[in-house]
Amino acid sequence: MEIQLDTITEATSELTLKATPEQLNLKLDLATLGSDVVYNLTARRIEDEVFLDGTLTFTMNLTCARCVEEFATPFRLPLRLVIQLVADESFVREEDADSEEFVLFPEARKAFSLDQQVRDLIALELPMKPLCRIDCRGLCPQCGANLNESPCGCKTSGTDPRWDGLRKLSNN
Ligand SMILES: [Zn+2]
Ligand SMILES: [Zn+2]
Repeated sequence: MEIQLDTITEATSELTLKATPEQLNLKLDLATLGSDVVYNLTARRIEDEVFLDGTLTFTMNLTCARCVEEFATPFRLPLRLVIQLVADESFVREEDADSEEFVLFPEARKAFSLDQQVRDLIALELPMKPLCRIDCRGLCPQCGANLNESPCGCKTSGTDPRWDGLRKLSNN
């Protein structure tokens, strides 16, 4: 996803851009993009600085840390970036600079790729332990059944499955 810096002027312009999962090529554990990433940005240049401000919208497919089912979650992240244009070609983008919101970029190159910023931003925002829902029951430690779907009948917490038949009878 490239922004043509030479088209940005002092007048604020609106940019709507889109990157496909293939273009972004995220390499994350247990998470994949479930949609394109849509960028809604405003762009403005003041002297040697280009200010980008807006949001990223996309869906991630995450794997639940308890039940290992995949589930989709929508995301809407703020993106804010200042690109300082410099004359010297020898300056390269500082991929891991202290400030994630500020980069140096040689003015002569014109096309600025946002991909690395976006990859970092998404990786930062993902939950360490994704849960398909807050009260996910996870998997039975004995038989591996997904306890969200149905109780498996294993003896794990005091109730004796041998009584289940009798209880069913008494419920009738
Ligand atoms: Zn779950
Ligand atoms: Zn079980």
